[in-house]
Amino acid sequence: MCGIVGYLGNRQATDVLVDGLSKLEYRGYDSAGVAVNNGKDNLEIRKFQGRLAVLAEDLQKSPIEGHLGIGHTRWATHGVPSDENAHPHFNEDQTIAVVHNGIIENYLELRAELQAEGYNFKSQTDTEVAAHMISKYYQGDLLDAVYKATARFRGAYALGVICTDNDKELVAVRKDSPLIVGLGEGENFIASDIPAVLKYTRKVYYLENGEYVHITADKVEVLNENREVVDKKVNEITWDVEAASKGGYDHFMIKEIYEQPEGTKNTLMRRLDENGEIKLDDIDITKEQLDKINKIYIVACGTAYNAGLVGAHAVQRFLKVPVVTDIASEFRYSDPFIDENTLVILASQSGETADTLSVLREAKAKGATVLSIANVVGSSIARESDYTLYTWAGPEIAVASTKAYTCQVTLLTMLT
Ligand code: GLU
Repeated sequence: MCGIVGYLGNRQATDVLVDGLSKLEYRGYDSAGVAVNNGKDNLEIRKFQGRLAVLAEDLQKSPIEGHLGIGHTRWATHGVPSDENAHPHFNEDQTIAVVHNGIIENYLELRAELQAEGYNFKSQTDTEVAAHMISKYYQGDLLDAVYKATARFRGAYALGVICTDNDKELVAVRKDSPLIVGLGEGENFIASDIPAVLKYTRKVYYLENGEYVHITADKVEVLNENREVVDKKVNEITWDVEAASKGGYDHFMIKEIYEQPEGTKNTLMRRLDENGEIKLDDIDITKEQLDKINKIYIVACGTAYNAGLVGAHAVQRFLKVPVVTDIASEFRYSDPFIDENTLVILASQSGETADTLSVLREAKAKGATVLSIANVVGSSIARESDYTLYTWAGPEIAVASTKAYTCQVTLLTMLT
């Protein structure tokens, strides 16, 4: 959901990657990393939890030489923010590296399949299956391997892929996550968004879903799902970097308002099975645990509290269980009646709201079951709750919540 940059040209790849990723910082992220083909037997990979500055500093201290690379800023969806879970992810012998934005929905079954075949996993991400799957199908033709691997994926993915065998080849694909191609003079780029390449070129291809890009030393080819070359139109970008970083909108808030359908779709569709039935397989709460619940509190702050009010309406109406919605800062002082038969549902975009976190700790101390709805993977509320459901709204930058709210309402209704 965050940033991808890829480069093939004559400059030092890491300069372009770090610079490009910095232009995507507005999208929000929790870790950053790069992989570079430096002509050796293994790809050189550096990745760190935290700000891009951590990566940039490391690269300054010990630079990587090479003209082909991929970079990533991560907004965790599967696995906490950590160095290990940061991208790029790579195959066993570190000859193929992948950056990914999105969610590979069937990663658990693919992971089990690959593990049974002897592939070892180092991270908790869904993305790592992409690295191993591409490696499994790789027989000297990277594009072919990416086609074969992606045919196995369900979900959303923008991928950038490089390997050691060819230091003049970059493969990318877009499905339900954004990706553009920047066309320079003797150099080419891939990126999640235009600001990342504007310093170098104003000529771009907008990729459609299901399009693959094959960048080699002398050409950029876009292909469709049937491996036929697509005749793409070159777009000239006329806006400035400032406007571009907000996707052409004047403010983040209006941008995020327009992102509501996408966020809702992410939150909803990925939890529907083939028959359109809701499956909340991200939590493993049992029927026995649910049966003993005789009272529900929904507690949150600010906009999330409003989502709670809507959620409570749904719960009372459909489940006929008493529900009290309260503002976290008030809740603790209202002497709530909490025991082991109580379910406390918390909602927080950041997962760090201090009052909500205090309620969580108090409710747990009194034996209640705590289920949280959060947007930031690995946040305090997510970590400390008995169960967490994530709204996959993507980072929300505006202070006034819009898309996170819509996704909270969606999720509370699904939970009901
Ligand atoms: N699902 C992947 C992960 O959790 C990619 C997240 C992203 O788009 O940044 O690592």
